[in-house]
Amino acid sequence: MKLFFHGGGCGDSCCLRVQDLSVKIGSDQILSGVDLHVHCGQLVALIGPNGAGKSTFLKAILGQVDHDGVIAFSSPGQRDRRPRIGYVPQSPTFDPGDPVTVADLFACCMSKRPAFLGLSKAMRKTVLACLERVHGEDLIDQRVGTLSGGELQRVLLALALEPLPNILILDEPLSGVDVEGIGMLMDMLDEIRKTYDLSILMTTHYLSTLEKYADQVVLIDHTVLAQGTPSEVLSSLAFAQVFHRKGGV
Ligand code: ADP
Ligand code: MG
Repeated sequence: MKLFFHGGGCGDSCCLRVQDLSVKIGSDQILSGVDLHVHCGQLVALIGPNGAGKSTFLKAILGQVDHDGVIAFSSPGQRDRRPRIGYVPQSPTFDPGDPVTVADLFACCMSKRPAFLGLSKAMRKTVLACLERVHGEDLIDQRVGTLSGGELQRVLLALALEPLPNILILDEPLSGVDVEGIGMLMDMLDEIRKTYDLSILMTTHYLSTLEKYADQVVLIDHTVLAQGTPSEVLSSLAFAQVFHRKGGV
């Protein structure tokens, strides 16, 4: 595996460049020959059928699975420093009976003080500031297990934004979110991307959101089958073949 960090861009403010990436798990070739550029400030959507290797691809970028090929980051102004990656994993589940509150969750992730001692005033203020980024200050004392799908995603997003990353990676952030919540969450991601000038790479099955929000769409089924603007990919032969063959998204 080759992992590079460099201060300059790839000529066009490229934030993440993946070249000839492949992942083999046991004897299964999960991904091969994957090339992808994410330019700074872009929202890139990865689509593909279940089992296509989307989550595996994100995990390779995060360094959580072994891979071959090149993954190169560049973060302008941060020469030789690894860019910060914010990550929202796919649908974590929390027990509704679990007493852990949103405040506790933040405290566990951000502070060495044991959560059972309660939040210091300063930490509560910090958590509120984090939640403000996702318009979620009112969620601070809610139990994590009782949050709706959309609320949970907002809380996880707030966690991924602290400290502010250069790239935000989200795995199926819209699954488990109701129809109204989907528009709200996508508007929020769009706002966050513009406010904090970060790049977003996300997987999704909600193709109706692509035209409005994605700069680039990448269709994956073990390798990249199509890549381009939402309309280019959604009207491609590869898209029709994959989803016709697999019987839908
Ligand atoms: P997607 O996110 O597109 O649905 P995944 O990346 O989760 O696809 O999985 C792609 C393929 O890799 C699937 O066939 C899955 O069973 C396999 N896979 C993923 N992780 C592992 C693993 N840790 N061990 C064995 N097979 C795995
Ligand atoms: Mg997945």
